[in-house]
Amino acid sequence: RFSTAAALEETITPSVQISYTQHLINGQFVDAASGKTFPAYDPRTGEVIARVAEGDAEDINRAVAAARKAFDEGPWPKMSAYERSLIMLRFADLVDKHRGELAALESWNSGKPYEQSAKSELPSFARLFRYYAGWADKIHGLTVPADGKHHVQTLHEPIGVAGQIIPWNFPLIMFAWKVGPALACGNTIVLKSAEQTPLTALYAAKLFPRGLPPGVLNVVSGDGPSAGAALASHMDVDKIAFTGSTETGKIILELAAKSNLKQVTLELGGKSPFIVCEDAEVDKAVELAHFALFFNQGQCCCAGSRTYVHERVYDEFVEKAKARALTRVVGDPFRKGVEQGPQISSEQFEKVLGYIKSGVESSATLECGGQRFGSRGYFIQPTVFSNVQDDMLIAQDEIFGPVQSILKFKNIDEVIRRANTSRYGLAAGIFTKNIDTANTLSRALRVGTVWINCFDVFDAAIPFGGYKMSGIGREKGIYSLNNYLQVKAVVTPLKNPAW
Ligand code: NAD
Repeated sequence: RFSTAAALEETITPSVQISYTQHLINGQFVDAASGKTFPAYDPRTGEVIARVAEGDAEDINRAVAAARKAFDEGPWPKMSAYERSLIMLRFADLVDKHRGELAALESWNSGKPYEQSAKSELPSFARLFRYYAGWADKIHGLTVPADGKHHVQTLHEPIGVAGQIIPWNFPLIMFAWKVGPALACGNTIVLKSAEQTPLTALYAAKLFPRGLPPGVLNVVSGDGPSAGAALASHMDVDKIAFTGSTETGKIILELAAKSNLKQVTLELGGKSPFIVCEDAEVDKAVELAHFALFFNQGQCCCAGSRTYVHERVYDEFVEKAKARALTRVVGDPFRKGVEQGPQISSEQFEKVLGYIKSGVESSATLECGGQRFGSRGYFIQPTVFSNVQDDMLIAQDEIFGPVQSILKFKNIDEVIRRANTSRYGLAAGIFTKNIDTANTLSRALRVGTVWINCFDVFDAAIPFGGYKMSGIGREKGIYSLNNYLQVKAVVTPLKNPAW
């Protein structure tokens, strides 16, 4: 039924060396202050592939000191914006040149299919830096027609030292969403990668050309409660940008408030509805709903994880969704044609299997899957549940795995109400040919992104972020610039107001 588990016994060796495992602070690779290291794993096997410097508060202090100096003494924030833009463009060219190694490292450490890393994520990564390089010299303030005899202008200035904490599901893409706009606006950075995926952030940061002054981009590896919390509560960090779970987002906000009231943006979890309307072409709807959920092993914050299907097409949809899941190619992410690799870690693997168990216990119908795939690593069979009810855990919690939950609905008002009951509000998918239905749904759904007859369309220019407990603020596009700029009003009396 699934691609052969036996093929997993012989893992393909990725064509890349793991060269960088220390922190990058002030332009130098350095060991952790404590001398400690932690393991980075290959999720195909659970084997350790490298030991990485383990950051704690002291490493964060050192990185923040370097970023502070690089900001306060320059030249980065005061450098011509065009020059900053050229450095970012040169970086994007180097990313293209090293695309194969970066993609191999990304897949090796995260388990995502190599073809996805190389053909989709790396091009998006470089594109994002080119997009923000384009903004660098187009950021400027306004002349304000204030009442009274004054000349008033606004200056749009970088905020200062930006702390950035990213998750493991898209390590490089998250690096780009955070670092691209921060650099374009002239900030300096301390980035803490996810402890599960520390390798590509170090490799990418090392690729920056010489023109990037030391201390502008610092990368510290380590876990959340020590290194991450030290960054979020640091008195010398002016802004914190976080992507991860809603639970951790609340902690970040609290740490920011209790320390120096640094500005905060949060990209958090989701439980996105994917709504298949009665006029849907079922084959196409099944394929898109499948992609919306299973892409990236189901480890997407915006995954279409509540598949609402109109009762008129429901039975046909369920049968075909099951058939599609059964043909999903699971296997070694380095093997050509593989659609699904392992989950990121043993913790996530256990968590997803726990949710599957809860689905079965709450009497949803298990259509297919439900077990581990193979005998080692963190592979899980593509799993489909039908007859899912809104009050079941699998319809409410973010599973973050290859588990599709199909729910039946009768009419549009009902599905709007049910889709909006979630505590999350990140994204939604709508599948219909009816423009009126599409308009009604897209206006009524309380989410940050609506994809109509498409899903996971990410472009550097399209803003992304959540309503409700899915976050605060927007990333990408012009919106991300505001996350990294302060506005200063400058007021001067006019000597001769007549002119
Ligand atoms: P997580 O919140 O545990 O970890 C994310 C990051 O926060 C990691 O770098 C981690 O080290 C750090 N962290 C953990 N505890 C911390 C603490 N106490 N203080 C400071 N930093 C801390 O989440 P995860 O399990 O690694 O990632 C999966 C979650 O991320 C999912 O819930 C998913 O929806 C969400 N996510 C959201 C988006 C988005 O754009 N909205 C994108 C990707 C992932």
